[in-house]
Amino acid sequence: MSRWIDETLHPHFRQGFKADRILFDSATEHQRLVLFENGTFGRVLTLDSVVQTTEQDEFIYHEMLAHLPILAHGAVEKVLIVGGGDGGLLEEVLKHRSIEKVTQVEIDAGVVEFSKQYLASICREAYDDPRLDLVIADGVDFVASCAERYDIVLVDSTDPIGPGEVLFTDTFYGKAKNCLAPGGILVTQNGVPFLQGAELTNSLRAFKAFFADAACYLATVPSYAGGPMAFGWGSDDATKRQVGLETLEQRYRDSGIDTGYYNPAVHLAAFALPNYVAELIL
Ligand code: SAM
Repeated sequence: MSRWIDETLHPHFRQGFKADRILFDSATEHQRLVLFENGTFGRVLTLDSVVQTTEQDEFIYHEMLAHLPILAHGAVEKVLIVGGGDGGLLEEVLKHRSIEKVTQVEIDAGVVEFSKQYLASICREAYDDPRLDLVIADGVDFVASCAERYDIVLVDSTDPIGPGEVLFTDTFYGKAKNCLAPGGILVTQNGVPFLQGAELTNSLRAFKAFFADAACYLATVPSYAGGPMAFGWGSDDATKRQVGLETLEQRYRDSGIDTGYYNPAVHLAAFALPNYVAELIL
C-alpha cells in the first residue's frame, strides 16, 4: 500500500512524495536513512527526512556540481569530494579521463555501503574505481589536517543541520581553501535561495573574505523544491569564471562526456542571477 512521505526541511513549507514502496528504513550511526520508490522520481533517498537524491533528477545536480568546475578549470587532475555518500557526484567526476585521483571524505560509511547496494543506478561502478581514495571521516577534520593539494574541492553535503552543519562554517571554508592547489576552485551545495537565503548569504560572506573571486551559480533540481538551487564558488583565480563559450565547447567536446543537463551555454548562463538571489550575496 502506498503512503505519503513529507520532507520536513523547512519550517513553513513541506513537499510530499507518494511512496509506492518503502525499500529501506533504518538508522546509521549518524542519521536516519529512508529509501522509497516514487512514480515520478524513481528511488528517493532521504536522510533525517530531507531529500538527498532521486534516480530521475540526480543528473542535474551532479552534472552541475562536477562538470561545471572541472571544465572551467580546464586541467583538473586531483579532486576532493566532501560528503556525497550516494556516489552520484563521484560517478560524474570520474567520467573525466584527465582525473588521476579523487579523494572522497564521507562521514557515514553506512550511506556508501547502502548506495552501492540500493542506488547502483546512480553510483554505478564508481566506488570500485582505482582512482578513488575513500576516507570515512568528518570533512571538517579531514581538511584541517590534509597535506595534499587538489585542483577542485566539491562539497556535496547535507543541509546545515546534523552532521552537515560544520560544512557551512567559516572554519571549514578556510581549511578547505588550504587544500586547493594554485588556481583551484571550491564549489559547495548551497541550498535553495528562496527558502534558505540566510545560508547562501552566510557562505558567500565567508567566500568573499577567503577568495579573490566569490560567486554562486544556479540549477533547478525538481526534488529540491522552492526554485533553483545555488552552488557556491570560490577561487583566487578569477579567470576560471571568465572562460568563454568557444573554449568551454572545445573542452566539453574533448572530454567526450555525455550529459543530460550540462552544456557550455548552460554553464555560462548559470552564473546569471535573478535580483532576489543577487541581493542575498551583495
Ligand atoms: N545532494 C544532496 C543534497 O543536496 O542534499 C547531498 C547528498 S549526499 C548523500 C550528502 C552526504 O554528506 C551524506 O552522505 C552525509 O553522510 C554526508 N555528510 C554530512 N555531514 C558530513 C560531514 N561533516 N563530513 C563528511 N560528510 C558529511
